Amino acid sequence: MAAVVIDGKAAALRVREEVRERVLVLREKGVIPCLGVILAGEDPASLSYVTAKERALEEAGMASRDIRLPADTGEAALLSHIALLNGDPAVHGILVQLPLPASIREDRVIAAIDPQKDVDGFHPVSVGNLVLGKRGFAPCTPQGVVTLLREANIPLAGAHAVVVGRSNLVGKPLMNLLSRREFNATVTLCHTGTRNLARYTQQADILIAAAGKAGLITADMIREGAAVIDVGVNRVPDLTAKKGYRLKGDVDFEGVAQRASVITPVPGGVGPMTIAMLLRNVVQAAEDTAIQH
Ligand code: NAP
Repeated sequence: MAAVVIDGKAAALRVREEVRERVLVLREKGVIPCLGVILAGEDPASLSYVTAKERALEEAGMASRDIRLPADTGEAALLSHIALLNGDPAVHGILVQLPLPASIREDRVIAAIDPQKDVDGFHPVSVGNLVLGKRGFAPCTPQGVVTLLREANIPLAGAHAVVVGRSNLVGKPLMNLLSRREFNATVTLCHTGTRNLARYTQQADILIAAAGKAGLITADMIREGAAVIDVGVNRVPDLTAKKGYRLKGDVDFEGVAQRASVITPVPGGVGPMTIAMLLRNVVQAAEDTAIQH
């Protein structure tokens, strides 16, 4: 069997179109959804992520409030920027690009964001709401995974989903999302303490790899006909590539595609969905405040 390859770019474009339509409705009411974006330091990767997010916001008809701070910014100064954004009714969401300079405590900064503006879904209140099954913002990459699964018509209810990776960014929120009643999957969460990983992955109807280890999941580790979602993005050296490396997922794509029913590529799978979900969270935050006023 050769798997159907899920086109994450196309799925993300559909979400972005839906967001654009919701933005138009808000704009007619005089509301321009706006994301406050804080970048501290000059890390080139962070700068390129932030630039991509701001471009996507603009394309969707939304605004951004760009705050660029030098690498030696203190925690108190950063917190005061967050307080200003929290108190600004024209700003609907707040994003602090991570990682922060080493002198700043990330958990302090995240906890300072108004949960109603926490479009990244990292605030402890957002995490709590996700665990409790209450309304709130969920992190973008896990939301992107669930949206891709739904778009590809993969049945979730009653399915056994095996998640490899337990980070706060991907694995744990995925576990909480998939096991919500609305999705109703049975979830197994694996990590480096898991004895005999293959024993679990072979039982998966849906296998989600989020370990950050290139080629970790091989064909012998999956069940024939499983749906395989590859969250991993790993740089592997490749002297034939212009940059000296190429991006590879956690899944051995060529081998696994022979056994899976559907599979996501890297790049072009989960990646494009992450920004699309951020846009969706921002428009949601703006809609929520528009309803309150
Ligand atoms: P992370 O914080 O490093 O967490 C990796 C998790 O995988 C950990 O829980 C770790 O277990 C587990 N793990 C590592 N090696 C393993 C192995 N051999 N067997 C079983 N479990 C293993 O990474 P992350 O932030 O979750 O990101 C994971 C991957 O997704 C990375 O490649 C990252 O670049 C990618 N990512 C992509 C997007 C996107 O938009 N496409 C977004 C976010 C992340 P322990 O807890 O035991 O250490």
